[in-house]
Amino acid sequence: MLIVMKFGGTSVGSVKALTKVVDIMADGRQRDHQIVLVVSAMSGVTNLLLDAAEKAEDGDEKTAHQARALIAAKHEETTRHFLGETSQRAVVMAEIKALLDEFEALCHGIRVLGELTPRALDVIGGLGERMNVPQVTAILNRANIPAQGIVATQLIVTDDRFGSAVPLVEATAARAEAGLRPILNKDSVPVVTGFIGATEGGIPTTLGRGGSDYSATILGRALGADEVWIWTDVNGVMTTDPRIVPAAHPISHLSYAEISELSFFGAKVLHSQAIRPARRAQIPVRILNTFEPEHPGTLITAEALESNRAVKAVTAIKHMSLVTVEGPGMVGIPGVAGRTFTAVAKTDTNVLMISQASSEQSICFVVPSRDVPRVVKSLENELAREIDRRDLEPVKREDNTVILAVVGSGMKGTPGVSGRLFGALGRERINVIAIAQGSSEFNISLVVARGDADKAVRAIHEEFELEKPY
Ligand code: ADP
Ligand code: ASP
Ligand code: MG
Repeated sequence: MLIVMKFGGTSVGSVKALTKVVDIMADGRQRDHQIVLVVSAMSGVTNLLLDAAEKAEDGDEKTAHQARALIAAKHEETTRHFLGETSQRAVVMAEIKALLDEFEALCHGIRVLGELTPRALDVIGGLGERMNVPQVTAILNRANIPAQGIVATQLIVTDDRFGSAVPLVEATAARAEAGLRPILNKDSVPVVTGFIGATEGGIPTTLGRGGSDYSATILGRALGADEVWIWTDVNGVMTTDPRIVPAAHPISHLSYAEISELSFFGAKVLHSQAIRPARRAQIPVRILNTFEPEHPGTLITAEALESNRAVKAVTAIKHMSLVTVEGPGMVGIPGVAGRTFTAVAKTDTNVLMISQASSEQSICFVVPSRDVPRVVKSLENELAREIDRRDLEPVKREDNTVILAVVGSGMKGTPGVSGRLFGALGRERINVIAIAQGSSEFNISLVVARGDADKAVRAIHEEFELEKPY
């Protein structure tokens, strides 16, 4: 089998984790799998890099120096453990040092200019993966697993939406085939940087936070892999975020449709777009635990398996704002809904949820809070005349809200799910601000205040008995 395996930050973040990675790779090779390895930056590194870049824009270069020291120390520890005082280690550390020099030079430039562009942020954000690839490659080689590092700017071709670039399928297929197949044919393991790509002109981009998952499925599709395995630090996709409900437990099987709702609505375990290439190419995806590799984890395929459960999981996505356009003139003004959506679309904002009251007197939608000033401004421009004439009220925003999504293919055709859902929230005195049901009927999404979110997740988890194994 050809398997693309991706290891996340925690799974490559320590000596203990990297020891597991080597074992898992050795085991895979023993089973005669051909493996493409995709690695994230060591845990914490991307945050350090991005934070330092932002501080540099505000005139602070000290944070970059501190970040450099912390990142260097992390890689020094792991390379020392696995490679000892060898020439291989010296080569790896020299590569890492060159990337850290680049990082400091970029931060210096940002401080001097007082400007941090999305393009620069992508170059800096992707450095962690570029530092990790030489170290993982050397560690595998040292363990007698032939491996060859490769930077994904040579493989994944994207558009130029810095910060959340979208892959160009055909160009990527050609580059991935040309770049990876010869390595596989030599019976070697390509070790690829997650998270990053480049435009056709070669400008580095990133696929959005958590994007290494996406890198793995993009490459899986490009190569026609048999499976994609996402190795992380939990036993698969769980009934909810285990940090909110410790009794959450792993779900053995999900369909592409179910995971796409869950990841879109905040299940951090998989990047929100990552399932798309796998779904397109019908490639099974497994979510597995690096620290408990014998656990079967979650298998994701086209069909939902029969389950006596209507609701399988609940997620929460924080830092959201609700924007409302309303007014007595809403019904009488032709095209106002269209103009509203066009104005939002112009800002290139990700709208997560839309809900329109049946009276047609209001439209509200939910966007990430960081985008809300742009969205409101664009709406005010577009609707200025109507607002002036009092046909519409001033655009309203409500911050500190959270979207909850309740997901399960069995909800379709199971009567009473919403009754139970709202009953449970009512008993906890949780105010539901807005509701939307996905047309798939696999998902009911609702908006609650930030302060109610965790309580609401617990109430839903309990109501649908998600803590019970099945
Ligand atoms: P990685 O670095 O391996 O990509 P992430 O931190 O991005 O790992 O994602 C895994 C984490 O996602 C878990 O440790 C868990 O805390 C969190 N998480 C949130 N929701 C879920 C969920 N529904 N199922 C599993 N994990 C979840
Ligand atoms: N290192 C990147 C991030 O922290 C990508 C990833 O981990 O998937 O967002
Ligand atoms: Mg992740």
